[in-house]
Amino acid sequence: HNSKLPHVGTTIFTVMSSLAQKHKALNLSQGFPNFKSDQKLIDLVTNAMNSGFNQYAPMAGHLELRVAITNKLEQLYNTSYHPDSEITVTAGATQAIFTIISAFIKPEDEVLIFRPAYDCYEPAIALNGGKTISVQLEAPHYQVDWSVVSKKFNSKTKMVIINTPQNPSGTVFSREDMLKLEALLKGTDIILLSDEVYEHIIFDDKKHQSACMFPDLKARSFIVASFGKTFHNTGWKLGYCCAPKALMIEFQKVHQFNVFCVNHPMQKALAEYLQDPNHYLELSTFYQRKRDLFLSLIKDSRFKFTPAEGAYFQILDYSKITLENDVDFAKRLTIDHKIASIPLSVFNTDNLDNKVLRFCFAKTDDTLKQAADILNTI
Ligand code: PMP
Ligand code: GLN
Repeated sequence: HNSKLPHVGTTIFTVMSSLAQKHKALNLSQGFPNFKSDQKLIDLVTNAMNSGFNQYAPMAGHLELRVAITNKLEQLYNTSYHPDSEITVTAGATQAIFTIISAFIKPEDEVLIFRPAYDCYEPAIALNGGKTISVQLEAPHYQVDWSVVSKKFNSKTKMVIINTPQNPSGTVFSREDMLKLEALLKGTDIILLSDEVYEHIIFDDKKHQSACMFPDLKARSFIVASFGKTFHNTGWKLGYCCAPKALMIEFQKVHQFNVFCVNHPMQKALAEYLQDPNHYLELSTFYQRKRDLFLSLIKDSRFKFTPAEGAYFQILDYSKITLENDVDFAKRLTIDHKIASIPLSVFNTDNLDNKVLRFCFAKTDDTLKQAADILNTI
């Protein structure tokens, strides 16, 4: 048969998590916490089920949750979105991203992404007949040269996708980056998809620069968020997106037919949980301590690193250890040394191999210590 995605295999997250399971390795590959979500939040879900929130939610999402989201955006970013027309609750950030791309990308449209890039963008673009245009960022700092970006724009450019804090590099966009992007897009009708799933995980007193804080960006943007990252429950698959009404109308034309709505009792619970801002404001401190613990434990190893600025991934450079390719090395570490990670080449243009691996530090201190013990022997 004729595949619609001839170059797509199984995602690296499935490959590495399965390999870790098979070889009983510590799994620092796929990004998910190995500790519990807050019991209070779990109890709120049970309460919601017991009090009858077991049928379809409204298509755009449970209203109280949409209101809680708009209040959060107002408090954090001093910007207003209307809960009735500018917010949609989704089945994780993944469904929001897939739906945004499906709603806007036509055959021959070009979508610009920054590599290394999270792996769900390109297949969605391809399925809609679009063309992915890549800007490759250079290890170890992964900074954007905006003069290079401007040369990639032409009359077919329909969308730009950014991700800050960035997965997998752990870098964040500065205010200057956002202003340069805003200036570049001015006067065009290019849509911005701003993947901000790690908005609450940012270190060393850096401040998250949401696209919604920049008026000319906000007017053309979908902001995508994920509760799984923020509340340690990636398996619940809940997130949301926000955008000005005219864009959201197009989004919901697709959303209503690819899921209609998402898990109702969990939306009710999240609406109540979001009333206390400390539930997300404490997250950066929580993860910075884990990053610092992990890095202090491996500082004398043969891995080199630049500390992650955000998200819960640390890139480690293994070029002092071996020059074998990163996919082979990641597999060998899993099978022989019982520690799984993600090779970065799978996210790069032409699988560029910089001899770096991504380790997820959303793990208990005990797991991080066990991981460091292994890495120190390699
Ligand atoms: N974007 C990025 C950058 C991510 O890291 C992830 C989760 N790995 C997603 C989107 C998808 O989030 P969700 O699990 O909420 O679908
Ligand atoms: N976002 C997670 C990561 O980057 C993985 C999600 C998935 O398995 N698709 O590791």
